[in-house]
Amino acid sequence: MQFIDLGAQYKILEERISSRISKVLNHGQYIMGPEVSELETRLSKFVGVKHAITCANGTDALQLCLMSLGIGEGDVVFCPTFTFFATAEVISLSGATPIFVDSDSSFNICSIDLERRIEYVKSQNIGRVAAVISVDLFGLPADYTKLHDIAKKFNLKIIEDAAQGFGGEINGRRAGSFGDVATTSFFPAKPLGCYGDGGAIFTNDDALASLIRSLRVHGKGNTKYDNVRIGLNSRLDTIQAAILLEKLEEFPNELKVRNEIASTYSNALKEHYRVPSIANGFFSSWAQYTLCSDKREDLMSKLKANGIPSMIYYEKCMHQQKAFDSLKDINSNYPNAESFSKSVFSLPMHPYLSQVDIDLIINELLGN
Ligand SMILES: *Cc1c(COP(=O)(O)O)cnc(C)c1O
Repeated sequence: MQFIDLGAQYKILEERISSRISKVLNHGQYIMGPEVSELETRLSKFVGVKHAITCANGTDALQLCLMSLGIGEGDVVFCPTFTFFATAEVISLSGATPIFVDSDSSFNICSIDLERRIEYVKSQNIGRVAAVISVDLFGLPADYTKLHDIAKKFNLKIIEDAAQGFGGEINGRRAGSFGDVATTSFFPAKPLGCYGDGGAIFTNDDALASLIRSLRVHGKGNTKYDNVRIGLNSRLDTIQAAILLEKLEEFPNELKVRNEIASTYSNALKEHYRVPSIANGFFSSWAQYTLCSDKREDLMSKLKANGIPSMIYYEKCMHQQKAFDSLKDINSNYPNAESFSKSVFSLPMHPYLSQVDIDLIINELLGN
């Protein structure tokens, strides 16, 4: 059994993907070929925003957002402490100061703690309160009703990190549409993955979109050899765009299946485990299905002994990472995130998981 079975998906899409790739090999426009703009149009429709701009990976996508908002030295950017490293890494890379925020019971950023830390940053003159990178962790969109209120109150930009949340929804509105600007990743193991690295940025802001299009190609002006600002080289390869076009066709169906599997897990396990809670109106893309248990290590070895893979996301919070040691004085006290990091473990989750495997996983976890 595999944790995420990309091979099973490939078997179904093999012919369509091969024919898409061979089209690219025949027209030869490997960089910024027609598939890239076709994908951008399809992505913007899917998410329901005006602009989708593809780029090299989900980390660059976040960095391009910070650059486009002019965030750097002297600025403070908030993000959850319970996330993947890239979310926080780009803040330091931009020259700004990261302030980490605790999680609430949904695993996502706690808006009460966010507001408390904004007040703290202001009272201590740590820097200009500039933005929050909210993460749609494990596929579930963060609580944007609360985040929008806080953003308004403190004049804060919201950068939505939907690397895991792509495909998620709140009341029919799709993840990637909640931030002033949003990002996703097409890393193979994400809900919508390609066969290498890839990413995208979403926004309704025309000016921001054209700035990001310039930044992703060396700060280009009217032509490639007219450079009007310092940027990056961060394009999505045409072949990856071609693969994503085929995978995006299957994606809505895959999301349905992921949700069915998650319901099966939750219904069977809810009496014995802390299962993920999905608030009314919220829809997860189930990048991960995550349980909490104080007997995590025993459970994981029992699963392993029966050929069932499981993973820990995340064993270390951002405030516990050595790379952020120098920020310890201004980043402390994260009881929820620390308790999650000691108890979470994620089960196999992908749309091609068989009923036999699902039953096996549930039976092992129930001790049957
Ligand atoms: C995967 C991930 C990223 C980074 O995406 P890459 O494409 O690997 O650079 C950023 N944020 C979160 C929450 C992620 O899960």
